[in-house]
Amino acid sequence: MHGTVLRTQRLTPALVRVVLGGSGLDGFATPTGTDAYVNLAFAPAGAPYGPVFEPAAVREQHPREQWPARRRYTVRRWDEGAGELTLDFVVHGDDGVAGRWAAAAKPGDVLVLEGPSSGYRPDPEADWHLLVGDESALPAIAASLEALPEGAPAVVRLVCDGPEHEVPLPSPGRLDVAWLHRRGDDADADLLAEALRGLVFPPGRVHVFVHGEADEVRAIRRHLLVDRRVARADMSCSPYWRRTMTDEAWRRVKRDYLAEMDAEVASA
Ligand SMILES: Cc1cc2nc3c(=O)[nH]c(=O)nc-3n(C[C@H](O)[C@H](O)[C@H](O)COP(=O)(O)OP(=O)(O)OC[C@H]3O[C@@H](n4cnc5c(N)ncnc54)[C@H](O)[C@@H]3O)c2cc1C
Repeated sequence: MHGTVLRTQRLTPALVRVVLGGSGLDGFATPTGTDAYVNLAFAPAGAPYGPVFEPAAVREQHPREQWPARRRYTVRRWDEGAGELTLDFVVHGDDGVAGRWAAAAKPGDVLVLEGPSSGYRPDPEADWHLLVGDESALPAIAASLEALPEGAPAVVRLVCDGPEHEVPLPSPGRLDVAWLHRRGDDADADLLAEALRGLVFPPGRVHVFVHGEADEVRAIRRHLLVDRRVARADMSCSPYWRRTMTDEAWRRVKRDYLAEMDAEVASA
């Protein structure tokens, strides 16, 4: 499957919206979750195959150095009627494959993708919702807030580089939103966890969504499970990316990292 870039929009200095369309998206399944994601495939420069390709066939027919890079991105919106798929990309400097691609994307560019898959949707039976993350989790958090039941209470804690990085978060829910601004020092990685440690939890059963940088997610998950005794079944909590690691490097160590995350909680 592939999408053709219809238009792009700079949402913030670090966030680019790419809207895809075209007949290459025919048959795209309407996602069930609000954290639905697609697997994107980026061919390396000079790849001896065209812009539209089957990732599995490329892996069978070409040497490893010509395989596409894989990246996961959230379905910010799927407009079934218009056949338009919206993805929001963090652009984070000059390295990386996906962020750089998005920063340079222009109408007519082609993006190969597979999916969607998903795992979370705000539980309408929960007494309140807690959504926490960085810019990479913002598409899923924004989509989730749009799907809240009318008047549902939700506490939202987000980290970003400054006021110009904040985006509107329309929702039928009753939101308590705080944007935490990085200061450019080591304490930045603790901003979200620190905010949660100081949070007075509303009464009742919470449904939690925490995604973003691995070490930040890990600290928050531990706090919620160990100190707040939130039930695992009420949490969607996973590390999207890892500071200092490309996605390839991160995927190589992710299984062990997840096992360590579980072990430290089990022994607490
Ligand atoms: C299910 C899922 C859904 C996701 N949805 C989104 C989404 O909707 N939007 C989105 O932007 N990201 C999303 N991500 C995260 C995204 O896949 C990773 O950030 C990915 O590493 C970016 O690829 P890249 O090629 O730009 O950088 P890479 O080549 O993977 O990394 C290059 C360098 O950039 C750093 N880096 C990677 N991501 C970031 C970041 N966000 N901020 C700062 N530095 C970074 C790395 O640590 C590394 O040092 C999602 C991840 C998952 C697993």
